[in-house]
Amino acid sequence: MLTMKMKMIFSLCCLTLMAGYLPAQTTERSQPAVMDTQIQHAVAAVSQERLQANDLALVNFGTRHTLGTTLPPEKRAGVVQAREWINAQLQQLAEQCHGCLEVKTSKSTEGPAARIPQPAELVSVYAVQKGSSAEAAKRVILICAHYDTIAMAQMNDPEAPAPGANDDGSGTSVVLEAARVLSQQKFPATIVYALFPGEEQGLFGSKAFAQTVVSAWKLEAVLSNDIVGGDNTRDQQGMVRVFSEGIPARLLPDGQISGDTYKELRRLRLLGAESDSPSRQLARFIASEVPRYLPSSSVQPKLIFRQDRFLRGGDHTSFNEQGFAAVRLTEYAENYDHQHQLPRLENGIEYGDLQRFVNFEYLAGVTRLNVAAVALLASAPAPPADVKLRTKELVNTSTLHWAASPDGLATGYEVLCRDTTAPLWEKVIPAGAQFEITVPYSKDNVVFAVRAYDAVGHRSLPVYPTPER
Ligand SMILES: [Zn+2]
Repeated sequence: MLTMKMKMIFSLCCLTLMAGYLPAQTTERSQPAVMDTQIQHAVAAVSQERLQANDLALVNFGTRHTLGTTLPPEKRAGVVQAREWINAQLQQLAEQCHGCLEVKTSKSTEGPAARIPQPAELVSVYAVQKGSSAEAAKRVILICAHYDTIAMAQMNDPEAPAPGANDDGSGTSVVLEAARVLSQQKFPATIVYALFPGEEQGLFGSKAFAQTVVSAWKLEAVLSNDIVGGDNTRDQQGMVRVFSEGIPARLLPDGQISGDTYKELRRLRLLGAESDSPSRQLARFIASEVPRYLPSSSVQPKLIFRQDRFLRGGDHTSFNEQGFAAVRLTEYAENYDHQHQLPRLENGIEYGDLQRFVNFEYLAGVTRLNVAAVALLASAPAPPADVKLRTKELVNTSTLHWAASPDGLATGYEVLCRDTTAPLWEKVIPAGAQFEITVPYSKDNVVFAVRAYDAVGHRSLPVYPTPER
């Protein structure tokens, strides 16, 4: 069995080898994948000690149950203390970077619902790091986690102990640490760091956020970190899972499917495009662009082509439902005795989501992966616009064309190509600064996408072409 890392090296080798067999009409060389020292510095600045200290501060609130907001103020509910603490952490980072972060909250009242017996106020806390380029700053890269916790045995009791060291103190700590190291630098695109409540009641915090706050943004990618602490009683195999949906959730809303949606679903089937959702392109981007920034001993991405674990969900779904590219990061092997459990000792087994089960070295690895991914996305040019694959004539070559990447950062374009059964892109065909290319491969046999690159070699997210008749 090849390890993930070996597979990465293997696929990189393949790209190099294939450069010799590129079609004759592609005279311009593609930009090499040079290392960005700013991103290397950000990755190196991740502190395991800070992650541990942040996670401990969250655990020390005892519980961060969302319904805590319905308790009288004198009770000082953990969820309220936690959001005030998160807000204070982000404010402190904002001061340290001389106002580069704008810290905000977004409120909604949710319930009654199955797990919210009476209406409760939900407050999401987020910080906006505006991009340094006027045009690229309109694009938003979001990294998020949920700060609420639950103990299922007393699921509606806001005072039952629910330390949530891993679910999702780990993800919350990742977002705060990413905000600390990335706010020390400038990126062309905007980065948003968001922490949601109400996940355990049914994704309420992220749903409200995705439907309201985000609607004003050009949201390009979402990384949701949920249970990324690397439970130390299980073998994590040096990997963190990256879940990505195939058929986009936005095409399968609750209730009736509209005519347009039905047409789009039929088209996905017709083209065999069920593994080329924007979320899956984001997952592939993480697998291909990020590992070269990670120390070899650090946690590597393991792509799972599935929207989440079997029959389970998380905050990334709220963004998928609104049509955004969003992936979920979760440790490789979970221990369910340490999730959603009342802390207790029973038949010699210790239950509870306690800090002693979190592997902070692993969590630091996951944080590095997030930092590199977010920095790469925020440094990259916008994806090319209006990407089309010509289908007018029946020919054994394929012609793709596109419009310029809209934020002015791109200096060239590349066509990506893979076998229909391959999980990751296999060939890179440089197109230089042109907006059209004909490649000697039949569209019947392979899958294509087009991406932009800048003068330094940052790659945009790839865009799957729409057929042009
Ligand atoms: Zn969770």
